[in-house]
Amino acid sequence: MFSDSVGEVDPEVAEALEAEVDRQENNIELIASENFVSRAVLEAAGSVMTNKYAEGYPGKRYYGGCENMDTVEDLAIERACELFDCEYANVQSHSGSGANMATYMALIEPGDTIMSMDLSHGGHLSHGAPVSFSGELYNIAHYGVNEESEVIEAEELFRVADECDPDIVLAGYSAYPREIPFDVFREVADKHDAYFVVDIAHIAGLVATGHHSSPFPEADVVTSTTHKTLRGARGGLILTNNGEIAEKIDKTIFPGTQGGPLMHQIAAKAVAFKEALKPEFSDYQEQVKKNAVRFGEELAERNFHIVSGGTDNHLLLVNLNPKEITGKKAENILDEVGITANKNTVPGETRSPFVTSGIRLGTPAVTTRGMKEEEMAKIAELIDRVVSNPEAEEEHRAVASEVSELTANFPLYPFIEEGFAAAGIS
Ligand SMILES: *Cc1c(COP(=O)(O)O)cnc(C)c1O
Repeated sequence: MFSDSVGEVDPEVAEALEAEVDRQENNIELIASENFVSRAVLEAAGSVMTNKYAEGYPGKRYYGGCENMDTVEDLAIERACELFDCEYANVQSHSGSGANMATYMALIEPGDTIMSMDLSHGGHLSHGAPVSFSGELYNIAHYGVNEESEVIEAEELFRVADECDPDIVLAGYSAYPREIPFDVFREVADKHDAYFVVDIAHIAGLVATGHHSSPFPEADVVTSTTHKTLRGARGGLILTNNGEIAEKIDKTIFPGTQGGPLMHQIAAKAVAFKEALKPEFSDYQEQVKKNAVRFGEELAERNFHIVSGGTDNHLLLVNLNPKEITGKKAENILDEVGITANKNTVPGETRSPFVTSGIRLGTPAVTTRGMKEEEMAKIAELIDRVVSNPEAEEEHRAVASEVSELTANFPLYPFIEEGFAAAGIS
């Protein structure tokens, strides 16, 4: 059994693996938080490093045999610091939410106040939603975007801060299409003697390549995921320039909130960071932004309401009210034709988070496949044909076949399909 392939040991899982490769290959992936990792990242993530316990940090482990663990973790740290131009990085965090948890624990006490963006305006669950540890443990005050402009405005930030007297001011979002004004946030934090934390989970790839302004030097701590625009293995990342804070964060990650690090994921993060330091990765991020801008223009021409009137990053938030369709319905009918997106609340939302009035669309994944402005125009047309004719089954079938044609022209993982074939799985 030990040397048998997954296809031999577990045909049910092998079938799901192969079906997932097909799904990724054949769908237009527009979920703004998703991306496709390279072969090299997949290889590191699927490596024997999963076998090793390496509690502690490089040079200070609780187990023997960690010399190769130290090599990859040191590389990941060094490259993360180079990418984001900072002094300290903790690369052990299992996820973005865990990175936020460890950061709050390092900086403040339970009951202290975090000032963050409202979930329905683009914030994240781990920024104080009542159903998350963050809402449970901390006092939360939310700011939102301006109803007219649909962007963050300084006046609102100062107003909410004056009301709540925050201990942490938090910026960084899951569904905010505009550049974040870090300098304003720093002023707000300074006025209240608060820490300024920036969660760049979504925009890390843009930040790393200078396609979004850097949260440093304004931020005290920067948290991130590694698997969104940064296009690495799934995981979290914490950055700072403050040595005292760095020491605290290392402790709140391990042993504070985690046990052994996921060394296979850390190896894969190191590989992804190396890729992100290459000039091609910067070209990729530039194309991600160009694609998002063109996508927004094409949708706006077709009477979609683009929240804030456009985008400065990799995503669009689309208010579907002019189309008289809910986010939930749009997500479902797009899914049926092979276009994957997610329903999303919009500023001034009147529906529940399970229904919503909007969808969120991102360009990182399709750009990784090599799609450019021309394809974005085509995808906007396909979306419109479905969303504007929600019950037109024949039209939906026509769109589905155009989706297949388009994805077939941008192959994603041919080497995996070959691998499956060689293993006799397909
Ligand atoms: C995705 C995201 C996270 C959480 O990442 P997980 O790895 O899913 O826990 C945290 N913050 C923001 C802003 C995000 O968009």
